[in-house]
Amino acid sequence: MISKVLIANRGEIALRIQRACREMGIKTVAVHSTADADAMHVRLADEAVCIGPPSARDSYLNVAAILSAATITGADAIHPGYGFLSENAEFAETVEEHGLAFIGPTAEHIRTMGDKITAKTTMRALGVPLVPGSDGALPDLQAAREVAEKVGYPVLIKAAAGGGGRGMKVAQTADDIEEAWSVARAEARAAFGNDEVYLEKYMNRPRHIELQVLGDAHGNVVHFGERDCSLQRRHQKLLEEAGSPALTDAEREEIGRTATEALSRMGYRNAGTLEFLYQDGQFCFIEMNTRLQVEHPVTEMVCNVDLVREQIRIASGEPLGYTQADVKMSGHAIECRINAEDPETFMPSPGTIKVFHAPGGLGVRMDSAIYVGYRIPPYYDSMIAKLIVHAPTRAEAIARMQRALDECVVDGVKTVIPLHQKILADPSFQKGDYTIHWLENFVAAQQAGK
Ligand code: ADP
Repeated sequence: MISKVLIANRGEIALRIQRACREMGIKTVAVHSTADADAMHVRLADEAVCIGPPSARDSYLNVAAILSAATITGADAIHPGYGFLSENAEFAETVEEHGLAFIGPTAEHIRTMGDKITAKTTMRALGVPLVPGSDGALPDLQAAREVAEKVGYPVLIKAAAGGGGRGMKVAQTADDIEEAWSVARAEARAAFGNDEVYLEKYMNRPRHIELQVLGDAHGNVVHFGERDCSLQRRHQKLLEEAGSPALTDAEREEIGRTATEALSRMGYRNAGTLEFLYQDGQFCFIEMNTRLQVEHPVTEMVCNVDLVREQIRIASGEPLGYTQADVKMSGHAIECRINAEDPETFMPSPGTIKVFHAPGGLGVRMDSAIYVGYRIPPYYDSMIAKLIVHAPTRAEAIARMQRALDECVVDGVKTVIPLHQKILADPSFQKGDYTIHWLENFVAAQQAGK
């Protein structure tokens, strides 16, 4: 049984994991950089260890320092959260070599899914439908041209090691492919040290729909329905919903069955998310995230499950203890990511929080690590809070989110709250009528209307 968890992360997700641990009677160890000495995750942990200077490379990504912190505090498990080391197979391996439990999948599965080409080949072999494209890495520009002709323009050149939307370039026609090819490779080389690329048909009006799964160490896999994360800007999600306004129950069941069968054949353990592009009733797998996602709370709300608690139970070797038939989705949930950014230019807005009032009331959840007097460091992600609401229907969830955002006060830094309010008031958003391109067009229209 796990009795002390070191949380190798910061901010709201570190607090989220601490909360689950505390309710389970598990002690927590926070790690932090010198820039985060006053952070809420440090204040609320049972113990805290400084692991390095502000730069993430020297602190939150510093494997030796994190393992030393685990050893000196006597932690018996490590939860990586999301980002940082959460999808680093060597880290997962090293943690287990040190006799600690890694609260996540096996290093082998992290490695397989971390390379998008291997991930796609694996999923195809397991019967999961893919976006049409190249069979694997493209050896040269000529091969890219040939596949593009076969699947038809527009096409997308994507980095095998991709993440965060980097190393991804669209070629609208044959005239653009040479440039897309070289820009995507250069970006991939700079960001990931690996310039291997592949090609996919560029889908013109898909939704981004992802499926939450959990597997235990005994071969049981269940899914917790889907999240619609189509509202993205520069491939970064901003607002997520569960369930998707576009799916029917039959479609949900079918993709759920395909995904859980595939993952149970793989022997997948712990939490994972399969991401799909969905268009004209077709699901096309794009990638799998082998970790907890930022947007996991919307699933927790509609399925009445604590996913972090489940992750810890699974890492302790416990069986899930329930089957697919026991998982029920009820009502609708929406999450708004509150970033400290200018709502029009999206420039980061670090600074000190002068006033903070979190909204409350029925069906409202605020996952945040900010407090009055907290100085948002400029070194990390700009997300300072996630506001989540749950209500019986989508229309009621929208109304609840609108009133919760109205109640929310954050003073001292700029936030994207005004943008969320505009999105929620928009008739096509309210109808659920949107694709992955909707938000970029919406933002452009707002800017043009100024
Ligand atoms: P990353 O790991 O860099 O986030 P993904 O493969 O998950 O990359 O893609 C990120 C986003 O890019 C998707 O959510 C979608 O909006 C867009 N995208 C990816 N592949 C395609 C495609 N074939 N056609 C159209 N849009 C795509």
